[in-house]
Amino acid sequence: MLIDLRSDTVTKPSLAMRKAIAEAEVGDDIYGEDPTVNQLQEYAAQLFEKEAALFLTSGTQGNTIAILSQTEPGSEVLVEADAHIFWYEGGASAALGGIQLHQVPGRKGIMTTEDVLSRIRSENVHFPPTKLLCLENTHNRAGGTCWSLEEVNSVGEAAHSKGLKVHMDGARIFNASVAKKIPVKDYTKEVDSVQFCLSKGLGAPVGSMLVGSKEFIDKARFWRKRLGGAMRQAGILASAGLYALEHNIERLEEDHALAKKLACGLKALGLDVNLNEVETNMVMLPYADADSLLEKLRQKNILAGLSKPGVIRFVTHLDVSFNDIDYTLETIAKLP
Ligand SMILES: *Cc1c(COP(=O)(O)O)cnc(C)c1O
Repeated sequence: MLIDLRSDTVTKPSLAMRKAIAEAEVGDDIYGEDPTVNQLQEYAAQLFEKEAALFLTSGTQGNTIAILSQTEPGSEVLVEADAHIFWYEGGASAALGGIQLHQVPGRKGIMTTEDVLSRIRSENVHFPPTKLLCLENTHNRAGGTCWSLEEVNSVGEAAHSKGLKVHMDGARIFNASVAKKIPVKDYTKEVDSVQFCLSKGLGAPVGSMLVGSKEFIDKARFWRKRLGGAMRQAGILASAGLYALEHNIERLEEDHALAKKLACGLKALGLDVNLNEVETNMVMLPYADADSLLEKLRQKNILAGLSKPGVIRFVTHLDVSFNDIDYTLETIAKLP
């Protein structure tokens, strides 16, 4: 048996989810006639108390569409220095939207209002116009860290006061919501658009959502079509997403408890884990010879990932059990 702690994207649909998939009512979603896609979109919009939502192929597509729908070529978009949008999305907004990403320094992935304000361009013939601010919650490269409600509201209000739109890359917004006990509708009140992944800790095989105003979603639907992301009987996929939202949100708490257990266990073995930074379902382990530790674990059927050179990342998810974490800790304790 394999214990796969590389990412929460490795989760496979459960039997109950597969049953929902098999029974999904479908239609042609490009005609707006897939009842399951429509149901998922209405459900997501209600959860966030936004006007509308859109089902998408991936988180990268969602972030890219959010950027393209709220900027024009030559605009500048503010992102935190370690943002997923900057590191891991193939330069999509530059390639497809003519966007210049401007990195703002952060602490644990969180930018201060001051740092954001100081990077918003004034009107000047030299400057590209700053159009959009992106926040990442939870923050991936920082190790699944969460924004506080006050931080989101403060930075969001400041950006709005300067005429910017605000997008939240909430690939794991539900992890943040459960950890901080903040309903997503409150967490995202001060943001104009949100992207979240169905295919990570929520356990669906495919898909992401965008939520926002009706006007924004209409633009997003156009961009989705232009990027080749409009699908036909997509209810087959949307049914899994709907099942995930109805059943797999509260249980994220279990993933967080397992991450805490792993982190405490590693710490007890004398390893260099910062327990204060384990806020959701990720554990970051700085380790000098990370590649060799990863290989030793692989030989014991345990998979973990490399977040950056010298930092191992473990991610808990719904296909990881309490016993898996015990076995992982025992294995690490016995390694030569
Ligand atoms: C995974 C992730 C994405 C992209 O999602 P994909 O579905 O893999 O394209 C975007 N942002 C963050 C923070 C992520 O962790």
